[in-house]
Amino acid sequence: MSEQKPPLGSLNPELPPPLPAAPPKIWEPRAGKKPEARPQSYTARLDEILQPTSDVRLFRLTLDGYSEIIPFQAGQFIQMLCPCPDMKKPGQTKKVIRSYSIASPPEEKRFLEFCIKLVMDGKFTPTLWNMRPGDSIDLRGPYGKFVVDEPVEHDLVFIAAGTGIAPFWGMIYHLLKGAHVKRDILLVFGLRYESDMLYEREFKQLAAEHPNFRPIFTLSRPRHPETWWGETGYVQTLLPKYLKDPGHTKAFICGLTPMIEQSVAQLAKLGVTSDRIHYERYD
Ligand SMILES: Cc1cc2nc3c(=O)[nH]c(=O)nc-3n(C[C@H](O)[C@H](O)[C@H](O)COP(=O)(O)OP(=O)(O)OC[C@H]3O[C@@H](n4cnc5c(N)ncnc54)[C@H](O)[C@@H]3O)c2cc1C
Repeated sequence: MSEQKPPLGSLNPELPPPLPAAPPKIWEPRAGKKPEARPQSYTARLDEILQPTSDVRLFRLTLDGYSEIIPFQAGQFIQMLCPCPDMKKPGQTKKVIRSYSIASPPEEKRFLEFCIKLVMDGKFTPTLWNMRPGDSIDLRGPYGKFVVDEPVEHDLVFIAAGTGIAPFWGMIYHLLKGAHVKRDILLVFGLRYESDMLYEREFKQLAAEHPNFRPIFTLSRPRHPETWWGETGYVQTLLPKYLKDPGHTKAFICGLTPMIEQSVAQLAKLGVTSDRIHYERYD
C-alpha cells in the first residue's frame, strides 16, 4: 500500500483546527465614557475572531465600560495580560504579558484589531488560541514611538515579514485615508507561502484608490510558482529594485530580528541614513 501524504498546502496537522465559520459581527453603538489618551489598564472583550491563515488570527476587541477604543497613533502597541499555564508548575497558572501592535487604523473607532501568529511552543499565544468571542482579556496601553511623524516630508518605505505587517495596515491606511499623504508610499511585504497572505485585498484596494501607494508582495517559498503573481525572494533583496529615491526616503521595518538586520544593512548600502530607518522588533 502506498504511503498517504497530505496534499500540498494542507494545514500542518499539529495546528489547532480553524475556527468554525461565524456570521459577521454587527457592531452596535455602545454606551460608556470615552477613554483618555494616556496609557491605562482596561478590561477588553474579544468581540470577533477571524482566521485569515492556518496560524494567524485577527482579534477584534472593545473596552468594557467605554463607548470607543483607546485613542492611539497608528503604529503603537498595547500589552495583553493573561493567566497562562505555568510551565514550571504543572496545573498552575501565572500572569504572562505580551505586546501586540494595533493593526487597525485610528480611524476605526469601533474596535481594536490585532493580527497575531500562533507560536506553537509559546507561553502566551496558545492560551489566546483557546479564547472565544465574549471572553475577556486585560490590556494596557497604548505605548510606543514606532509612528510616522506628520506632516510627512519624505517618501516612505514599509518593510514587513509575516505578522510584522500588523502595524503597517493601520499606518498606511491612516496615511492615505486620514492624513491624505501624497508622497510615495512603498510596501514590501514578505511571506513564506501563498497561503500565508494577510491583508492582500485591503492593500490592493488602497493601491487602486491611491496611485502614490505601491504594495509589493513576495514569497520566499512559493508552492505554485507557475501561478504566483508577485515577487519571489526575501524582502531585503527587492529593495534595490523598488526603492526609487533612497536619499529622500524614510524606512519602517517590522518583524523578527534577522529580517530587520538584513533590511537595515541593505537600506544602508542604498544610501538610507540611520536617522531615517525605524524598526519594531517582535523578538
Ligand atoms: C512591540 C511589539 C509588538 C508586537 N506585535 C505583534 C503582533 O502584532 N503580532 C504578533 O504575532 N506578534 C507580535 N509581537 C510578538 C509578541 O509579543 C509575542 O512575542 C509573540 O506572540 C509570542 O508570544 P508567546 O508567549 O506565544 O511566545 P514566547 O514563549 O514568548 O516565544 C517567543 C519566541 O516566539 C517567536 N516569535 C515571536 N513573535 C513571533 C511572530 N510574530 N512570528 C513568528 N515568531 C514569533 C520568537 O522566536 C520569539 O523568540 C510583538 C512584540 C513586540 C515587542
